[in-house]
Amino acid sequence: MSDSISISERLSQLQNMFHQGLPGRMEELEQLWSALDKGWDTKNLNQFLHKVHSLAGTAGTFGASTIGHAARKIEVALKQFDDAEVAPDEAGKRLLARDFDRLLELARGWDPSSAPHLPPEDEATKFQRGNNLVYIVEDDELVGKTLVEELAAVDYDTHWFRTPEEFKKACEQWVPEVVVMDMVFDGTDITGAEVISSLLQELDPRPHVVFISVRDDIQARLAAVRVGAKRYFTKPVNMREFIHTLDSLTEKTVSDPYRILLVDDDKAVSQYYALVLEEQGMRTQIISDPMQCLEAIAAFKPDMVLMDLYMPGCTGVELAAIIRQDDTFAQMPITFLSSEAQLDKQLAAMHLGGDDFLTKPVKPEHLVDACLARVKRARQVTRLTRRLQHALRESEYRQLALNQHSIVSTTDASGTITSVNRKFCDTSKYKENELVGKTHSLVNSGYHPPEFFEDMWQTISDGRVWHGVIRNRNKEGGFYWVDSTIVPFLDNNGLPYQYVSVRTDITELVLSRDEILVAKKEADQANAAKSVFLSSMSHELRTPMNAILGFGQLLESSDIDEHHKNDVREILRAGTHQLNLINEILDLSKIESGRIDISIEPIMISTVVQTCRSLMAPLIEKRELSFEIQSGCDTDLCVAADPTRLTQIVLNLFSNAVKYNREKGSIMVRYEEVDTHRVRLEVRDTGIGIPPEDQDEIFKPFFRVGRSSAETEGTGIGLSISKRLVDNMGGAIGFESVPNQGTTFWVELEKADMVESRSADGKEKDLSLKEVKSRNSEEPRILYIEDNVANIKLVEKIIDRRADVGLVSVQQPGTGIRMAKTISPVIVLVDVNMPEMDGFEVLRRLRENPQTASIPVIAVSANVMAEDMSKAAEAGFDGYITKPIDINTFNQTIDKALQK
Ligand code: ADP
Repeated sequence: MSDSISISERLSQLQNMFHQGLPGRMEELEQLWSALDKGWDTKNLNQFLHKVHSLAGTAGTFGASTIGHAARKIEVALKQFDDAEVAPDEAGKRLLARDFDRLLELARGWDPSSAPHLPPEDEATKFQRGNNLVYIVEDDELVGKTLVEELAAVDYDTHWFRTPEEFKKACEQWVPEVVVMDMVFDGTDITGAEVISSLLQELDPRPHVVFISVRDDIQARLAAVRVGAKRYFTKPVNMREFIHTLDSLTEKTVSDPYRILLVDDDKAVSQYYALVLEEQGMRTQIISDPMQCLEAIAAFKPDMVLMDLYMPGCTGVELAAIIRQDDTFAQMPITFLSSEAQLDKQLAAMHLGGDDFLTKPVKPEHLVDACLARVKRARQVTRLTRRLQHALRESEYRQLALNQHSIVSTTDASGTITSVNRKFCDTSKYKENELVGKTHSLVNSGYHPPEFFEDMWQTISDGRVWHGVIRNRNKEGGFYWVDSTIVPFLDNNGLPYQYVSVRTDITELVLSRDEILVAKKEADQANAAKSVFLSSMSHELRTPMNAILGFGQLLESSDIDEHHKNDVREILRAGTHQLNLINEILDLSKIESGRIDISIEPIMISTVVQTCRSLMAPLIEKRELSFEIQSGCDTDLCVAADPTRLTQIVLNLFSNAVKYNREKGSIMVRYEEVDTHRVRLEVRDTGIGIPPEDQDEIFKPFFRVGRSSAETEGTGIGLSISKRLVDNMGGAIGFESVPNQGTTFWVELEKADMVESRSADGKEKDLSLKEVKSRNSEEPRILYIEDNVANIKLVEKIIDRRADVGLVSVQQPGTGIRMAKTISPVIVLVDVNMPEMDGFEVLRRLRENPQTASIPVIAVSANVMAEDMSKAAEAGFDGYITKPIDINTFNQTIDKALQK
């Protein structure tokens, strides 16, 4: 291993030298070329030819074959002019100049590391599968497996089938050379013979058939003969004989006959033996002069040499020793043929390189048998050797490719580096001898915590493969990132004896990913800053808007003429629109900066739809639209969503379905389960629709379809808010639309279990009923009826800071109303949007009971529209707190109510 590395190192050093010297060589060539261009004389030409010839030879040697070929091309072309002693004409010169430019270009761009240099596999060593396919049809597992193993060991390509059916199927694909057939299947007498007889008619070419059977009776054997079987073996099968039979059956099909070289000074004897062997299909060559033996071997390429022991000039033993000196013939069988009968002499001859010894006179059958046995084995060995060489070559190719791509190293069981490839050295900037013998801690960058490496060691020493990304440090202190795989190799006891690490340098990837992350962070920050800016701007804009709208309203109700009233109404209309716009921008910027609280809880979709329907009723009426909830919708269906936000979304869809509908059009709503996890709500209108070219834009902030923006008031933000809210709730929103026919918007949300309002014993349950502070019951307390736990928590915190009042919160409105009677709170805070009973209803019930009628009731709601607030005031609420709760406003409202 270390030897081969040092040879490859030396080669690469030489290659480097060639690479470094290349510009110098090219410069010389360029000078000679321009001299030649100016005056074509033999001296210049010869000098140039000499240089270009030397370049052609050297370049190829160092793997720069493209340069070599280009140089050779110029050399060949110039040689013609040199031989003819004429100068090329203008056209010829142009061609030469073009080739020379190409050569210069190749030399400039040559990179020795760009491609590995490994000449293609020698045709002679290429492994080719012989025609040695054997199908074994045997239902006995043990017999089947044994046959497969034994035959595979002597290089047969075996396939084993348990049933005749499997075997027949395989024959449709590929006809084998030999079929080894069991005679008896499943206890039925001669199934094997029947299968063969029906199949053989169809097969082309016909395979040889050998039967194996437990039956040794004449009927079974007769059945075998009648279907053309070549041999019949009884079980247990004599393996030696069995293989011999297969060998001789397949031998007839050997396309390349066995070659035997006979070396004997007695020509007559060798001619006799040659005849005997040729009769058996072998090819022979005779030489009587042992001195010609090596030449004959090189030319005839025998599978075996049969030689006389005593010959004039050189004995058989000496000749055998000479043959064996050459590695190429080390495997070739040599059999001595002699009348030497003395066993010790025979043994000595064998010791010196012979494989067998035949004593003359040899019987012809004996000679044939001895030769056949030897040459067959020799061919098998050659075949196996080729296979091995081929596999080795393949693995060499793979190794080269791997080394081009990856950083590879091996360590022993203790982690000491035993080898590194060139890429490892290039990347780490350490030399091979600085790495081998050390551990990988040499390149440890200190970036990963010790546990990281502990985990790695634990994994690989347990015999498992480890994958991971590591930051390493090179010799110069720079960092590089590698995507690594470490594979432990285990010994017979299952313990790792070495580790092979393969790594890919991903430094650039990591750096660009970091850049992207930084860019994203910056973009996020910019976006957040934008949102903060928008939100504070909106706050600033809202304050003067209050004044504009307030004074506008005063003016409207004052005693001015109708003409001015109309002007004031215009101001109010535009002012309200602007306030809506500001509110929506505020909402959008809150969502974008992640400052909205989404509190997911089960909510009945039918309640949301009904609430929104009532809110939209006046507008629906005004436009004379029909509004229908499709019959059959499951009113108990619940989704997991933030109730307030879901109401906002549905309201937006309803509002659009109204706004963009045609006069007297219709709105159809339906909700249903999509699957066990999801619920879909659809809002279908018969309006103007959305043109296909605008459909991709619809959820972008401020986008409005040209036609709608001209005809209908709107801000173009509603849908973008809805989409973000739905996304935040883990749902999806979309639409289908046909211009001038209508649009169907849909929202899909996660299905939730039914909202439980009663416990198993039938009583209303309220798990969250709790008092924040354990003060005495005389102390003033606020009752907070709110189904959203997040809101309760927030109000708890705010009240906690106050010394003058305590808090009792309750999630179920019914329980809240009952408690108001028993605990006599100083204030009731009530959430306006609750699925079971809204805040208005709670207020009504509190007012109708004398015990609770005079308690101040403050509405808490996410609806910030002026009309919501005035509606609340009209209903009799003593205050209105908007969500998200502003602590100061909250405290002020409470203070005010307490003073009453
Ligand atoms: P606004 O309605 O305030 O303009 P939205 O974000 O709700 O804002 O809608 C954006 C645009 O999408 C609308 O201006 C309109 O052009 C189009 N649009 C929304 N809903 C419908 C609908 N049901 N039918 C036709 N166009 C619609």
